[in-house]
Amino acid sequence: MDLDTYRTGLDQWLDEHVAELTPPYAGVGTMQERVDHLSKVRRLCFETGWARWGWPEEVGGLGGSTILRAYLGEALASRGLVDPNFYSTPEVLAPAVIRAADPRLAAEFVPLLLSGEEYWCQGFSEPGSGSDLASLSCRATRGEDGWRVTGQKVWTSFAQFAQRCVLLVRTGTQESAHRGITVLFVDMDTPGITIRPLATIDGSEEFAEVFFDDVPVPFERTVGKPDGGWAVAMDILPDERSTSLWHRGAILNRQMDELLAKAPAESLSPTAVGETAQLLLGFRARSRATQYRLASGERIGAETSIDKVLLASAEQAVLDLVLEGLSQQLVLGDDAISAQWRADFFFSRAASIYGGSAEIQRNVIARRLLDLGPDR
Ligand SMILES: Cc1cc2nc3c(=O)[nH]c(=O)nc-3n(C[C@H](O)[C@H](O)[C@H](O)COP(=O)(O)OP(=O)(O)OC[C@H]3O[C@@H](n4cnc5c(N)ncnc54)[C@H](O)[C@@H]3O)c2cc1C
Repeated sequence: MDLDTYRTGLDQWLDEHVAELTPPYAGVGTMQERVDHLSKVRRLCFETGWARWGWPEEVGGLGGSTILRAYLGEALASRGLVDPNFYSTPEVLAPAVIRAADPRLAAEFVPLLLSGEEYWCQGFSEPGSGSDLASLSCRATRGEDGWRVTGQKVWTSFAQFAQRCVLLVRTGTQESAHRGITVLFVDMDTPGITIRPLATIDGSEEFAEVFFDDVPVPFERTVGKPDGGWAVAMDILPDERSTSLWHRGAILNRQMDELLAKAPAESLSPTAVGETAQLLLGFRARSRATQYRLASGERIGAETSIDKVLLASAEQAVLDLVLEGLSQQLVLGDDAISAQWRADFFFSRAASIYGGSAEIQRNVIARRLLDLGPDR
């Protein structure tokens, strides 16, 4: 399936099914409503094959270029049918599971994720280990018939809705920080796991603290080699800064279009509009190139930190402009659409934190791409 054929067919299908795919609530909706709606969209897209293109046949896909996945997310997000923050998790976690896990595990679980039957979460950050991920201390020890995990994760998006967690744990000694880390694929209903949702400034409970108290995990659920998890994690981070960001860009374009249609012309400074449009276009050009590199089979890495910095700058500029152009509605409006703008504004502040903070991305660019030397 080539992109043009896919695009024409998908656009037509979306036009015909838009009523079925549109969220049944106005504005942000509750977390449960959003999860239920996304499950429905995923199921419909999977059953009709649209969400299977671009994924390998071994995990329930129909093969074809990864560009098709990029376009599906873009098409859904730009019509306001999904929130990429929720929708794009498979782009972050599934490719690494396909590459590094036992193929039987990937074949069993990836189709459940793609078809909306289940959700996965990413258990990386800890209270004392965010930017300095290699210092993580959630530990797994070897038992006779599997690992036993004890420790805590935090900022785990959608943990309270997830059936599985791609979990980073320490299995080696602290002295070999990068080498002593392992990735486990954990069932979230295992006894010993406690999930406490955390309220965010945008009013949702998008993420959670997750506590592990002597949680058993079978050895077969190890993703990659024991003590070799750092390499898997370093593969996941570029995935987090590529296709999922392309999807996010589609929402930003939609927000910009809505803003320009609704805001009184005199409320927006032409310079600010021009600069924001430039940031959006800059991100889009960069992310498009990343999509084509992925599609050609190239392994992506540290250079995706550029995509992340551009996305965060564009997202915050768009929502700053919304605050300028729709300030009355954003600050005082008490209808569902105003609540949506407010939530979008607050969420945009997180764009320079999630997926690695802007400062850390700039460090990566300086050190690994520009060879400017180590941190002082
Ligand atoms: C909306 C959202 C969703 C998230 N979802 C998940 C998830 O699903 N799973 C998950 O594991 N994590 C998730 N996170 C966590 C995210 O990855 C971390 O917040 C991020 O990596 C930063 O870590 P931290 O919060 O511990 O901040 P810290 O690492 O404590 O950093 C605090 C500040 O110091 C700066 N800083 C730190 N070190 C340096 C340095 N060496 N040089 C310059 N500046 C530095 C940082 O840039 C930041 O501004 C999410 C975060 C957000 C906001």
